[in-house]
Parts: sequence; C-alpha cells; structure tokens
Amino acid sequence: MGNPHAVVIAYPVQGHVIPLMEFSHCLADCGVKITFVNTHSNHSRMMNSLQEKSNKQIQIDLVSLPDGIAEGEDRNLVPEKLYDSIIKTMPGYLEKLITKINKSFKDKITCIIADENMAWAVQVAKKMGIPSAVFWPASASLRALLLHIPKLIEEGIIDANGIPSKHQMIKLSPTMPAMNTAHFAWRCFDGKLQEIIFHGMYSNNQAVKDADWLLCNSFYDIEPSAYASSNLLPVGPMLPGTRPGQPVGHLWPEDSTCLQWLDQQPNCSVVYVAFGSFTVFEQSQFHELALGLELSGHPFLWVVRPDLTKAPDANYPDGFQTRIAARGQMVGWAPQQKVLAHPSIACFLTHCGWNSTMEGLRMGVPFLCWPYFADQFLNQAYISDVWKVGLQLNPDHKGIISRDEIKKKVDELLGDEKIKERSLDLKEKAKISVHEGGSSNKNFKNFVEALKGMS
Ligand code: UDP
Repeated sequence: MGNPHAVVIAYPVQGHVIPLMEFSHCLADCGVKITFVNTHSNHSRMMNSLQEKSNKQIQIDLVSLPDGIAEGEDRNLVPEKLYDSIIKTMPGYLEKLITKINKSFKDKITCIIADENMAWAVQVAKKMGIPSAVFWPASASLRALLLHIPKLIEEGIIDANGIPSKHQMIKLSPTMPAMNTAHFAWRCFDGKLQEIIFHGMYSNNQAVKDADWLLCNSFYDIEPSAYASSNLLPVGPMLPGTRPGQPVGHLWPEDSTCLQWLDQQPNCSVVYVAFGSFTVFEQSQFHELALGLELSGHPFLWVVRPDLTKAPDANYPDGFQTRIAARGQMVGWAPQQKVLAHPSIACFLTHCGWNSTMEGLRMGVPFLCWPYFADQFLNQAYISDVWKVGLQLNPDHKGIISRDEIKKKVDELLGDEKIKERSLDLKEKAKISVHEGGSSNKNFKNFVEALKGMS
C-alpha cells in the first residue's frame, strides 16, 4: 500500500481556488499527498502573486493544465466560453496527467477532489476507477435550492430555463430565509448566459451525485435544515490565507502594508470594505461609496481592485484622497483573512461572497451587506435575517446606495451591541466546529481516514 495521493482541481476563479487550496493544505497537514491543478493562466497568476519567497518547501505539488482559451484573452469577459472550453479541453488532459503520475515512481492517485463546477472530473474518476470527492465552495442552502429546481418548475415558480413566472418570496423550509425569485443565483446574468448558467448549475449538481463524498466549507449550526436534502458534509469554516511560506491561492499580489496601518488604528474602529474578486462598480456608485466612507467619519480600509471600476484607473471624487489621507487606506488586494483577524476591525462592508461570509463569521466581525450577484443575496439573507449578525444596505429609488445610507448603517451597526454579541457567539460556534471533536472536524477526519484506508 502507498500513501494517499489526491489530485485536486479548482474552478479557475479566485473564490474557488482559495478554499480548495486551504482544503489541500489541511489534507497535506494530515499526511495526504496533494497534486493541485490550476489552469495555466491561473497558475502563472498565482505564482507571480506569491510574495513571501520563503525557503520553506511548498507542501503540495502545483501543476497546471490548459483551459483551451488563447493566451492573453480575458477569461472574465467570456465566462460561457471558458466554461465550455474547460469541459471540452480539460478532461483529456486530466486523464493524461493522472496516467503520467501513476506510471512514475510517485504515489499513485487514490482520489480526485473536484470543485463542484468541475463536476466533469467525477466522470474522469469513474472512467479511471478512482474514488472521487466533490468540494462545494458555496452554502449548503444554495445546493438545496439547486436540488429543488425540478419542484420549482413543477410548481410553476420558474420555467424550464429558470425564469420566474413572477417576482415572489419563497421559502424552501421554515428555518431557511425567504428567497426572492428575482435574486435566484442564475438570475443576475444577462440573456443567453443566464440560461447557460442555470442549466450548467443544475447539471453539475446532478453530476456530482456520482461522487463518493460531497464536502463543503460551512458548518451545521448555521444552516441546519439545508443538510437534510443536500447530502453535504461540512468541513468548515476553514481559515484560509494564513499560512506563512505556503501558497494560499491569491491571484493578485497582496498589499500587506495595510496590516501596519491597521496596527496604528484604535481597537474596533476600522470599517473594512471589500467586494471579492468579481464585483465591478459603475462610476457614480463608486463615487457615492467613497463619499459615504468619508461621511461615516470612521477609519476605513478599502480594497480597490485594479478592475473594480470599468475605467482603467479608479477615479475618486475630487480631493477625496487628500481629505481622507489621515484615516483612510486603499489597497489593490488585501490579505483579507489577516485583516479580518485584526483587533482594529469594527465591521466588514462586503458583497457577501461565501468565502468572505465564512471568513467574517469565523472572526466574529459584524457585516454590512451589499450583495451584487449570484448566491450573494442568499448569503445576505442568512447574515441579516437568520443569524442577525449584520445589516443590509438598501438602494434608493434610483438603485444607488447613497452616502447617507452608508453612514446611517455604519452608525447603526456599530451601535448595536446585540449584533456584536451574536457575531461573537457564532465565532465561538465556528471555532468549536473545526476544533478537535467538533462536527466539521469529525467530518474532515473521517474523510482523511477513508483516504488513508483506500491507499
Ligand atoms: N480576498 C482577499 N483579498 C481581497 C479581497 C478578497 O484575499 O482584497 C479573498 C477573500 O478572503 C476570499 C476571496 O478573495 O477568500 C473572495 O471570495 P468570495 O467568495 O468572498 O467572493 P468572490 O470573489 O467569489 O465573489
């Protein structure tokens, strides 16, 4: 018998690479050998972003495969093309990679761990007679919703292409938040892309049924009713991004100078503002946000990704940078998990991506919710309506979140002791779930034992 050796394959976007990379490190810590597969394009971005050139040996093998898209083409601009190209190109390459590893003197591949969006890898595993696990990087509730699609169609709530018959609030179970049909995860895409995403989500969700394990970055306490139908085993919330000398999967180089800046701020005073890796702002909304942060009167750390606005360079309101210089800091990409763990952070103004949600919750930081698309509205509903650890920002009649709304909600959030208490309570529950004897820890250990038993 050899050592367990898993090949891990992430969907090539930031919010998927980070949690799968952390999961890989957790497995490697337990003696599972890992070959981590990125697309060529993300592999080079990740290697360029590795800033701590430490002497520490990287504990996982980083390899890359082509995604079928020409070099230099902007993959964000053509999500449907990327998705299609991956399905056509990558299965053959993955098979070849595994065959090559198995013929070498290395430990043979004993499991394929695939991102849910890479469900085709489960079929590769089946074909090659290798056990497989699927890692679901979103909430269990989203999977519950996707599994519910046939029923939603049957009840006439949506048609066969996912289009709602009318805007209404629905509840999948009494303990899950009400969902607005206008905000179903596939609804935020335009035209044909919406149908492609809807069918893609549904078919991936079906395809993963052949996997031997379905794991997710969540924990039982926060969405208990979603587990009954989803078959998911939660192993989170994981704490990625805090591994000195090891790649954590960042595709942008992180600007760590903001940590020293945070050291100089009073405890519990800073508003941390970040919208993940995709969100793009219209110029007018970008201005309003800048002015809202200024008006709030609090110190703030704002992640302004190079592509956060449509213009090539962020275009701040006149005089903004001079006026806020003493108490505001903008960075292109932050070491988010370290930022959220910093004692100076008072709250997290977020787009409610699932990773950001888990990271804020794990650190006990109250949220100001500004969902933008996909599952973020569902995550926001959990944050503000179910866990009650944050407040929602509401757009005005023109669809803009105004500077006054931002100031009002920052004040309201920071003055709410109950929200703070509940955030700390969830932080404690999250910690318990991943520590020795906790529910996520048990699921993780059982998975590791199974991997070891099979090798
Ligand atoms: N992130 C980061 N630095 C930043 C902004 C984001 O490290 O300045 C990380 C964040 O910690 C999270 C991921 O990028 O792990 C974003 O994932 P999420 O699911 O929150 O949002 P998405 O990018 O998928 O919309």
